[in-house]
Amino acid sequence: MDADLVLFNGKVYTLDPGRPRVTALAMRDGKIIFAGDDSTARAMLAAGPGAEAVDLKGSCALPGLTDAHLHFEWLSLGWQRVNAETPSLDEALARVAERAARTPEGGWVLGYGWNHNAWGEQLPSAADLDRVAPGHPVSLGAKSGHALWVNTRALALAGISAQTADPPGGRIVRDAAGRPTGILLEDAQQLVEAVIPTPAPDELAEAMRQAIPIVQRAGLTGVHDMDGPQAFVAEQILHERGELTLRIVKSIPLDHLDEAIGLGLRSGFGDDWLRLGHIKMFADGALGPQTALMLQGYETARGNTGIATTPIEKINAAVHRANAAGLACAIHAIGDRANRQVLDVFEEVLPLAGRLRMRNRIEHVQLLDPADQPRLGKLGVVASMQPSHATSDMLMADRHWGPRSAGAYALKTQLNHGAVLALGSDCPVEAIQPLPGIHAAVTRRRADGSPGPQGWYPEQRLSVEEAVRGFTWGAAYAAGLEDRLGTLAPGKLADVTILDQDIFAIEPMEILKVQVLGTVVGGKFVWRAAALA
Ligand SMILES: [Zn+2]
Repeated sequence: MDADLVLFNGKVYTLDPGRPRVTALAMRDGKIIFAGDDSTARAMLAAGPGAEAVDLKGSCALPGLTDAHLHFEWLSLGWQRVNAETPSLDEALARVAERAARTPEGGWVLGYGWNHNAWGEQLPSAADLDRVAPGHPVSLGAKSGHALWVNTRALALAGISAQTADPPGGRIVRDAAGRPTGILLEDAQQLVEAVIPTPAPDELAEAMRQAIPIVQRAGLTGVHDMDGPQAFVAEQILHERGELTLRIVKSIPLDHLDEAIGLGLRSGFGDDWLRLGHIKMFADGALGPQTALMLQGYETARGNTGIATTPIEKINAAVHRANAAGLACAIHAIGDRANRQVLDVFEEVLPLAGRLRMRNRIEHVQLLDPADQPRLGKLGVVASMQPSHATSDMLMADRHWGPRSAGAYALKTQLNHGAVLALGSDCPVEAIQPLPGIHAAVTRRRADGSPGPQGWYPEQRLSVEEAVRGFTWGAAYAAGLEDRLGTLAPGKLADVTILDQDIFAIEPMEILKVQVLGTVVGGKFVWRAAALA
């Protein structure tokens, strides 16, 4: 059979148990037609000279990496914004001026990341921004998230003047004469945020179109998008235009369950580029603000057991209705009580879910009571986890959860109990790159080496293969796609991630330095470093 792309001379890890290591892959019409040795691949090339042959020069190839939990709208819009994390005020102003120059008059200039402590302590002002962008409303969020820096035009659009009272929970910073200076603290930020227009579908599609190459360059061939219907619209626009070169599994927020059922939508509807995933719901808050729902109070606040953001009765009813209609569910659960309650729901729905082969999942699975640890595996619930959260949050977890952290971010425990791990980043909460995620899963250490050579709760470290499996086969399984994606074998979709070093062989801390040389989606290079030219 004629191939149209042949990769040879590689260290190819197929994750296919029948043939785990090969050196060559041949693809045709978006699918893998051969995984094996170089001499057979060469014979295929000789027989069908139309194929492109790429010498991998000993580099490492994996099934295309998929991020099983990220926010595609949020990250795409975030990457459009001015990066205001600069060493000086002047540098931040120069970036605003540059953005204003290519934004139509009157259009918003949005940015994020400033920290006046790095600029000599004094808070910046509306007047600073007015000098560089008088014709545009400007709104720049502080890195801390607790302050907004805006210009006069933005203050006017928000109706903020010397007469405006401070809103509850917020403060409008004022000069000696009582005039707003352009800094809004805490809940006063919402006065401006409320008047910033949400992007039109075409604008969001454009932001996503610009984000896709960055995602592909990170080595990802697919993502599970947890954002809302406006993201779904924009993704469909890209798909209609033939510009969707990243596979997207799209979740739907719980608020739209009735509409999904009413329309007769089922998980899996769509095609290999854009398909319907899960009904997404939230059982609790998060560790940072101590709103994760806990069996016992926080170490730092014994009386606080967190917040059930959706009543469990509502989640229970929704899961039963969704599963009965053919819609699988993905439920955010951080605290040990939230996870227990969600597992109770999944246990109750099991006769139905099992019969309908629903790929129900828990998002984050951050803290489990020991009694609940075996339950995901037993109930066939996918553990959708983010290894970078473990190393980002470890100090916070130790502080707020104390010794209970032994059951936190417990990836290996979940594998040991037979749960399928689907791994992701939660980008933009963490960086988009999957390799630091694999590194965190394998080492349980930060880039600086902390907390030490063994890592944080070292018994939870994964092997490289286990981590890669979570970003490939596990992510595919979570979406019911394991017959099409997740391993490199004939008949599978031709998605491949090519790395400059063999991550199975190098010192695990070195995984952070590995470069993505190529990303192949549907048998075509969507990112290709010069080294593979
Ligand atoms: Zn998320």
